Amino acid sequence: MSDHHSSGPAESAFDDVARGVARFRGEVFPRQKSLYQRLIRDGQKPRALMISCADSRVIPELITQSHPGELFVCRNAGNIVPPYAQMNGGVSSAIEYAVLALGVRDIVICGHSDCGAMAALLKPDVLDSMPNVAAWLRHSAAAERIVDRSLPPTAPPAERHRLLALENVIAQLNNLRTHPSVAAAMADGGLALHGWFFELEHGRVLAYDGETGRFVPMQEGAPPPVAVAARAVHPVESARAAAE
Ligand SMILES: [Zn+2]
Repeated sequence: MSDHHSSGPAESAFDDVARGVARFRGEVFPRQKSLYQRLIRDGQKPRALMISCADSRVIPELITQSHPGELFVCRNAGNIVPPYAQMNGGVSSAIEYAVLALGVRDIVICGHSDCGAMAALLKPDVLDSMPNVAAWLRHSAAAERIVDRSLPPTAPPAERHRLLALENVIAQLNNLRTHPSVAAAMADGGLALHGWFFELEHGRVLAYDGETGRFVPMQEGAPPPVAVAARAVHPVESARAAAE
């Protein structure tokens, strides 16, 4: 008890977090004070909702070089979006709020390399002691099944892991489209979906191109590939045309 300040490794690491808070307030915040004041006065108008993994190495604001007010972020283990109506929770609420209240016009699902959640899916015994994680990762079952079908059992584990993480991004994009707020905004032509994959080892972001079905590196100066484009559909008109 007496020497609890002489700190094990965990304690000293957290001391650094507290120092960071002090440095933010003393050095960073003064430079951004007018930005915060404007964001309080005018409210936030983020340019996108980003759903990424909670992994400490995947930082949406850092990867996209975004400032306060620019990105509405929802992070969870495995960058998962439960299908609508299956689970009323934080992810569904963040989506609904971002689309209906904030009017975001782009949603990004961002997976990444070396993802622990995807690794756990490949080693189910790891999940025996974590029933909540196991239940949560069942939302990735479609990706798991696709990988099982596309790779032989002899495929190298690293290849299986990477493919699963990529397929998981696509599976979560499909889940995202089951949310009524998302489906309606897309039908109005006011919302596009993006699937990204952050490569930790290269600091590179791949984006899913829905037209070609491939993940391609994002290029500077070019608009990022879109997984599902905002496209106005007019079912009433098309239904009428079909009936004629
Ligand atoms: Zn992860």
